[in-house]
This record gives sequence, C-alpha cells and structure tokens, in this order.
Amino acid sequence: MSNVLLESIFLKRSQQKKKTSPLNFKKRFFLLTESKLSYYEYDFERGRRGSKKGSVDVEKVTCVETVTPESNPPPERRIPEKKGDDLNEPEQISIIERFPYPFQVVYDEGPLYVFSPTEELRSRWIHQLKGVIRYNSNLAQKYHPCFWTDGQYLCCLQTAKTAMGCQIVGDKRRSKSGGSIQKADKPLPPTPEENQMMKKQLPPTPTASTPSKTWKVVALYDYTPMNEQDLQLQKGEEYLVLEESNESWWRAQDQAGKQGYIPSNYVTEARDSIFLVYGKIFLCFLSTYAFHISVLSSVFFSNLQGKDGGFIVRDSTRNMGKYTVSVFAKSSGEPQGTIRHYVVCSTPQNQYFLAEKHLFSTIPELIIYHQHNSAGLISRLKYPVSSQQKTAPSTAGLGYGAWEIDPKDLTFLKELGTGQFGVVKHGKWRGQHDVAVKMIKEGSMSEDAFIDEAKVMMNLSHEKLVQLFGVCTKERPILIVTEYLSKGCLLNYLRDSRQSFQASELLEMCKDVCEAMEYLESKQFLHRDLAARNCLVNEQGVVKVSDFGLSRYVLDDDYISSMGSKFPVRWSPPEVLLYSKFSSKSDVWAFGEFKSHENLATTDHVTKGLRLYRPQLASDRVYSIMYSCWHEKPEERPTFHVLLGHIVDLTNEDP
Ligand code: ADP
Ligand code: MG
Repeated sequence: MSNVLLESIFLKRSQQKKKTSPLNFKKRFFLLTESKLSYYEYDFERGRRGSKKGSVDVEKVTCVETVTPESNPPPERRIPEKKGDDLNEPEQISIIERFPYPFQVVYDEGPLYVFSPTEELRSRWIHQLKGVIRYNSNLAQKYHPCFWTDGQYLCCLQTAKTAMGCQIVGDKRRSKSGGSIQKADKPLPPTPEENQMMKKQLPPTPTASTPSKTWKVVALYDYTPMNEQDLQLQKGEEYLVLEESNESWWRAQDQAGKQGYIPSNYVTEARDSIFLVYGKIFLCFLSTYAFHISVLSSVFFSNLQGKDGGFIVRDSTRNMGKYTVSVFAKSSGEPQGTIRHYVVCSTPQNQYFLAEKHLFSTIPELIIYHQHNSAGLISRLKYPVSSQQKTAPSTAGLGYGAWEIDPKDLTFLKELGTGQFGVVKHGKWRGQHDVAVKMIKEGSMSEDAFIDEAKVMMNLSHEKLVQLFGVCTKERPILIVTEYLSKGCLLNYLRDSRQSFQASELLEMCKDVCEAMEYLESKQFLHRDLAARNCLVNEQGVVKVSDFGLSRYVLDDDYISSMGSKFPVRWSPPEVLLYSKFSSKSDVWAFGEFKSHENLATTDHVTKGLRLYRPQLASDRVYSIMYSCWHEKPEERPTFHVLLGHIVDLTNEDP
C-alpha cells in the first residue's frame, strides 16, 4: 500500500485552521501513495526530506482541481518572464523558486492549496490524484474554482470553508478558462466587492460579460440534421461551441460559419495542446481519458486484431496512473498475429520510455516517436485503434428541441411484444431511423403526469440507457418513441440464448447496467423497477437500461402496491417492502438481483435478514459484491459509482 506514486517539491499554502493563524506559503516535499498524500519539510542542503508536517487520507479527498491563480501574485507565484526552469534537470530542483500553478485537494476539512512549479507537473499530479480517488464514494460534483481567502471564496463569496462548490466539476467550457493563467493584459477578475455588485444587478447578460466562452470540439461521428435548427457534423472536423443550450444539445458553428444545434455526445473537446497529435480516431479515445476508459474487453481485442501495427494506449486501472501501450503485429511468426503490452515507464526525472531508453517528457511525444520507430517494440505504432463503439450513439431526441413527434413520420414494421402499457412495435422514423414505439393502452398510464416528466426524461442521455426520443400526445393512444434494440429484453436474451454465456460476458453485461445506473444515480434519478425484464440488448450485445422511472405512471394496483401480485417484490429491499421508501440504494438492491422465491415468501425471507445463496457462476468476489447490495441498511449499500469500480476491476482481471 505504501507504493510511492509521485513525489515533488511544491509550495503549500497554510490552511488557516484557526481564524488567527497567518496565511503563509512554505516549500514542502509532497509524496503521494495510494492511501495518503503527505507533506514533509525538505532539507535542501542535503537533498532529503525532513520531518512529516501533515497528510490527507486519499479516501477522504472529494475533489482535485486547478485553482484560478491569484489576481496579483508576488514574484514567487508569478509565471516567469522567460523560461528558465526545467524540472527535468534533477540538479535544478533545489533551486526552483517559482510556483505559479496552483491546484486544490479538497477533503472534509476544506481545500488544501498546493502550487506547482510547472503546468506539466501540476497536470500530472492532478491526473494521478484523480486516478487514486476515483472510486471514493464521496466525490464532489461541484467545486470552487477560486481561492478561499480572508474568510470567503472569491468565486461565490460563501464564507464556510466547507461550503458546497459553485461550479460543476468537469464543466468543459469553464475548466478550460479556469485552468489557464491570467495574462497580465487581461482584465483582472472582479474583487469580492465587485462580485457582490454584479450579484445584485440581476440578471446578468451572459453574452455581454462572457464574450469568449466558446470552445472547440471535434466531431466523433457524422450527424445528419434531423430538423432545420440542427447543424451537420462531419467526423473529424472541428466546430466552435457557442452555447450549451442544454446538456444534450449545443449551439455550434462550423468552419464555414454556419450555425445550428449539435448533439453534445457526438463531439469531444479539442485538447489542442497534446491529444490532437494522435489523429482523429485516437483522439476520441483519449479525450474521455477521465479514468474510466480502460476496458480490456473482447471488443477491444477484436478491434485491435487484424491491422498490423494497430495500437491502443490505455491507463491500467490496477496500476493507477500507469499507461500501457498494446500493439498488434502480424509479422511475428504466429499466423494469427500477437498482441504485446508495453508499460509506459518513467524515470525518477519524470521522463517516459517504452521498450528501450528513448526518453520523452510527455507520453504524446513518446507515441509520436514510436509511430516512426519500432525501437524495441514488436512493431512501430502504425494505426491508432479505438476501443469505443463505432456506430454513432443515439441523440437525446430526434433533433434539437424535438420531443413531440409527428405520428406521420412513423411507420410500423412488426410487433415486438406486449408489456404493462400495451403493445410495443418496431418502426422507422422518417423511413430511416429505427425506433421502438410503445402504444399506451388507454387507462394503463397517468398520461398527463408522464407527459410532463417526458421532457425531463428526454434529457437523460447515456450510451447505456435506452434513449427516449419523444412522444406523440396529440392523438390517442399516446405513443412513446425510444431507441430500438434488436435483441429485445435481457431476460429473454439470457433465457433463450442457445449459447451459454461465459462469466466474463455476464460481467460485461453487469458493467453496462451499472454504468447506466451510475449515470442515473449522478442525476439523482431513481429507476424504481430495475430488473432484467427492463434491460434491452442491441445488435452488438450491449445491454442498456430501459423504462427508468416509468413505474410511477402505472395505473394498476396490482403493480403499485407492495402487496399486489405484479409488484416487483423479488427486486425490492426491506425498506421498500415495509415502508415504500425508494432511493438510489433501493435500485442498488435490485441490481444485486434478488429472485428465485415466490413473492410472499420473499418478503418474509428478506425482512428476516435472509439472502440468496451464491449462484453457481458467481465467484466469491462477485458474490460478495452482490451481497453488499443487499445490506439491510440502505446507507451501508455501495453506490453505483463504487460498484462500477469493483466491476471494472473484475473485468480487468485475467480470465
Ligand atoms: P412495458 O414496459 O410497457 O411493460 P416492455 O418495455 O417490457 O413493456 O416491452 C414489451 C416487450 O417489447 C419487451 O419484452 C421487449 O421484448 C420489447 N421491447 C420493448 N422496448 C423495446 C425496444 N426499445 N427495442 C426492442 N424491443 C423492445
Ligand atoms: Mg418494461
């Protein structure tokens, strides 16, 4: 556990735990392991760390982000005029005197402010820290982009050091500007007084005060406009985002100056600095590099196989912060070719190398070098391979702002089945896009309540959720139009499938569902009826979660009452059975999937504290994860976020 992940000398700002303690800045030797971030005195004479001055438990950290620099820092925290500091020269480390790049490590006591000598080192630490905290259950969704100074946050003027953040973590637009350094010729940020003034003069006109809040994205997929307000996207082209109209649709401009709405899940931020060099497809892989990406699945290998020199860079979850380059080569004597994995190694001077000692200060530089020289690798890196799905994802609705669908645009193909609300049919929208249509049997749904909610549900958009495209409410029966998944519901898929599934395939399905549920959890949206019958399978075998929140609109006492014959008793935790208390944690229980008993027996069984035995295919570890979902106390059950971490770890284990 005490493996050192990073060590650096930074400037640490005092935390002013007592009101009277002075604000000071001291050079400290910082050391990060998987469990602790510690800082020490540093003996510059001897080049050794001295006594320990403090530490933060990694599991208590809620957020790691950059901080907007102070508006008028003293020389030691100001960016030097000319570039003189080179961290890669070890003998110079002791003479570094400038620390202009602040970041924050937020934990239960508030933020710890740390200043890095270079931007590169700061991003490496932030990256590494985010890696070690990523499965923390208490991660913050919001943070403060500015310092807490003189008893208040400069960004929002809240006075409590532990006050909830005022900006969403990972807000692409803001974090870009928030992370960059204020140039001297730019106007200084407002003082707290000015801020107060601005707050009073509501409402602010966003265009007047923030003229330059646009940013560049690159299209990951082609997009053909679905209505006249939309803008066409061409894979690999750059676009300028003008406005985040909502989470799923952004107003953008193409290079010819044409403006319109684009689906936000079709683009990725153009990290113009380093990642563009990977080429377009690879860009789509690394741009999601927010640590959940390393999926060592069969899909990944089948993508990699085939092209000599195909390669992929992934971060190893088991070895956090370490990258691996996997290369496929045909010319190795074996007829079907082989895949080799190379761990990206680093020297104590923070330089990277792969097979031999060709040193580079960044990973992109290293990749570029090996694109031209095999230099010890089985092949040079010829083709970046994406691990992501190649088909375009569903958009949140059929065009911007379109949630009422014209029934004339629908044609029906065949009946898929019948559910609680009636018949479900496969159809086409405008003769082109596959859709599934639920035809709501009259009297089966509280329609007005649902129609109100549908607009909210439209904005739920995730690759592992069955997308709601829209509704037809002008005629009866009302229609609910969703994404179509050709292999139907998971329950039947598992039952009917001639082939029996391997444990790894089942685990992959669990992961799909867990990803969807983690997303719903993050939106504080309860499913309330999670079960295999409400999951669907697409052509590629990807499982997606469906019918989220729909059970609230069912008009059928047998279904709603926990004593009713159709109530999903076998998927319900004690607090739902006893007090109808739904929460994300009751969804977690359902995820553990409780079945195999008759309804009445189950209620009795569950409330007595008895649980299901281990299914044959479940390993001890899988069973312990399932078991944790069935904790009697909802607060003791893991979140989907934590569950996903466990599942990702399991999928990364060797079969
Ligand atoms: P309800 O939720 O009204 O009870 P279901 O969603 O269970 O109805 O739908 C009934 C059947 O229709 C399912 O078992 C499934 O086979 C099929 N079905 C439903 N939605 C889709 C879809 N989006 N794509 C493909 N098949 C679907
Ligand atoms: Mg259903």
